[in-house]
Amino acid sequence: MMKMDGSTGKQGLIFDIKRYSINDGPGIRVTVFFKGCPLSCAWCHNPESQSFDVQKLYTIARCMSCNSCVQACPNQALSLSNGEGIKTKQDLCDNCGVCAEVCPSKAVEMCGKEWSAELVMKEIRKEMLVMKTSGGGVTFSGGEPLANPELLVELLSACKAEEIHTAVDTSGFAKKDILLKIATVTDLFLYDLKLIDPERHKKYTGASNTIILENLKELSKIHENIILRVPLIERINTDEESIKEMIDYIVSLPGLTKHVNLLPYHSIAAVKYARLGGTYNHENLNEPGHDRQLAIQDQFNKAGINAVIGG
Ligand code: SF4
Ligand code: SF4
Repeated sequence: MMKMDGSTGKQGLIFDIKRYSINDGPGIRVTVFFKGCPLSCAWCHNPESQSFDVQKLYTIARCMSCNSCVQACPNQALSLSNGEGIKTKQDLCDNCGVCAEVCPSKAVEMCGKEWSAELVMKEIRKEMLVMKTSGGGVTFSGGEPLANPELLVELLSACKAEEIHTAVDTSGFAKKDILLKIATVTDLFLYDLKLIDPERHKKYTGASNTIILENLKELSKIHENIILRVPLIERINTDEESIKEMIDYIVSLPGLTKHVNLLPYHSIAAVKYARLGGTYNHENLNEPGHDRQLAIQDQFNKAGINAVIGG
């Protein structure tokens, strides 16, 4: 069906298309960020990815207090207060984006836009030379790309038809049949593994990990290229017991090439929480010390798992 912008195919909310990515799979890549995630991890470094809706971001440091947005808002949702920038009455705001259009300094920006598969592919093709010469490709990330399987399958199939290497960066929190269908058109999975204990997983991510662990077992039977990504957050999953549970689980997986990226927590997302108008409740979250990181890496390696810090 033809859309208003003249494009065809599936659509979905995308909040960023990043070029020259070097941490989302091999080579130099284009990373496409889907908006919306069924989990809400306490340490999330992409808080703007969690909501399935378009959101308004406000950067007070860029604001010139010109009042243009306040005057332009059709719903009288904005006010400007001295020294505190603009305030939004959330119950009046329908995320129409008019304030972002009139803001002369990009202090207000809208996060999330409907993209068709066709238009995303146009963006991807612009980097064809860089992707091919560097051994790179495209990574679909988020948010949770599996939460929009129709758009994801169309994009993966289009990449496959053009011999572009693909990676899917996922929490694994999806219906099994969706994951297994995606697996038939995906070259590499970057699969998050946060905690093995279901109760603690629920406490820190908002959902049990039963589906995630079962899905990984099934995926590892049919797909050879899976890199597990384990965030390391002090006091949440870096104690001896959590690491042992993680290693035992990974060793038990059938057929999986056992590659793990250990990703120490970092706090660079604080500024993003502020731009969303939320508070940053990460005071108790910390990166484990360097010695502890090395000890964990050593523990994985001794169990026959190829673990690297970073990636
Ligand atoms: S997004 Fe629209 S409704 Fe919301 S504050 Fe901006 S102009 Fe007003
Ligand atoms: S239009 Fe932009 S610069 Fe002007 S008051 Fe609004 S947010 Fe600030």
